[in-house]
Amino acid sequence: MEKKGILIIGAGGVSTVATTKCAMNIDTFEHITLASRTVSKCEEIAKSVKEKTGVTIDTTSIDADSVPTLIELIEKLNPKVVLNVALPYQDLTIMDACSATNTHYIDTANYEHPDEAKFEYKEQWARDEDFKSKNLTALLGSGFDPGVTGVFVKYIEQNFLDTIEFIDIMDCNAGDHGYPFATNFNPEINLREVSANGRYWEDGKWIETKPLEIRVDWDYPEVGVKPSYLLYHEELESLSKNIKGLKRIRFFMTFGDSYIQHMNCLQNVGMLGIESVEHKGMMITPIEFLKTLLPDPASLGPRTHGLTNIGCICEGLKDGVRKKYYIYNICDHQECYKETGAQAVSYTTGVPAMIGTKLVYNGTWDLKGAVNVEEFDATAYMEELMTQGLPWKVIELDI
Ligand code: NDP
Repeated sequence: MEKKGILIIGAGGVSTVATTKCAMNIDTFEHITLASRTVSKCEEIAKSVKEKTGVTIDTTSIDADSVPTLIELIEKLNPKVVLNVALPYQDLTIMDACSATNTHYIDTANYEHPDEAKFEYKEQWARDEDFKSKNLTALLGSGFDPGVTGVFVKYIEQNFLDTIEFIDIMDCNAGDHGYPFATNFNPEINLREVSANGRYWEDGKWIETKPLEIRVDWDYPEVGVKPSYLLYHEELESLSKNIKGLKRIRFFMTFGDSYIQHMNCLQNVGMLGIESVEHKGMMITPIEFLKTLLPDPASLGPRTHGLTNIGCICEGLKDGVRKKYYIYNICDHQECYKETGAQAVSYTTGVPAMIGTKLVYNGTWDLKGAVNVEEFDATAYMEELMTQGLPWKVIELDI
């Protein structure tokens, strides 16, 4: 039987946007099923999608930690592509179920083990041969960062520079949700990332920094000057491997003083711990308990105002002349909310998740194996960004 339609797994903020945007592109996707651990969240998204787009989608529950359960569902639905917008913990089980059922795979974040605050592509890249041998695509990291940032770099390489030597990825969220402390996407994943040591790549080596040790004050177009802190981010691993001639790549993200004060305090008292502790005869994991207390990122949409600006500064050579380009997208939290019911951090992830899925689904992106976005021709993706809600701009900067 011909494989048809898509299966989306996960029903959080990113899924809300990705599912809505897939429904807006139903001519490509033909049929959508949304599955997650808590089926009522899928039903809520389905209701909103119907109201916003008129498209009816199917919903069901799934335990995405179980490969046999995933295989059973995928065999029953027979989709052409699975979009994983659950958590990074589920990447490998969903990849393995896709491979077993000859189904293309897309995600937005690289694999992380729940018991170790460390993310890397090693185990996903290890499945490259398996996907290749089955003529399947596993598109890794098609969110904004990773995702659009890799496509931006590839676009600059294809159109503006012969060699890119230096890349700084600049991620600014200038939105205000009115809470003293909340995270814009899954709190556990977010806090594990920010509280870890920083790392960047220079001259073929990784250089480690203390958490938030390196700060620059960057003037983001339409937003203004914001303190931006060096973090390790997963696209550094793939871009340092895939962009030939690169000498240095770094990643910076903005954080307000209140966010940093709260995070340091939580860290100091052990609330970011990922190891279980005994509390009144029960075993609890501090960071999981903290997630229960914090506002659900999916609920921030109506109360978040302001802009995001995420982009890449690429410096290198064109015909022997040194040049520097800044390519970025600006998003307005409230505009995103009006369109999809979610704030800009979910929007900037969910739209590219849909675009990656669309290009794999319609065969425009047809490399096989476990591949990162910058390995493909950037043209079609950049055109989709312009028309699907994430317009971008390139400006030349002084050297
Ligand atoms: P949420 O926590 O809001 O949503 C995650 C969803 O996955 C929830 O619906 C959850 O179910 C579901 N889920 C978790 N475990 C399982 C399981 N075992 N089986 C089935 N479903 C499960 O996360 P976000 O929407 O904020 O983020 C989604 C993904 O996007 C994450 O991987 C995140 O790292 C990534 N991301 C990527 C970015 C990028 O730019 N590349 C930026 C931001 C996020 P339940 O509702 O029952 O808890």
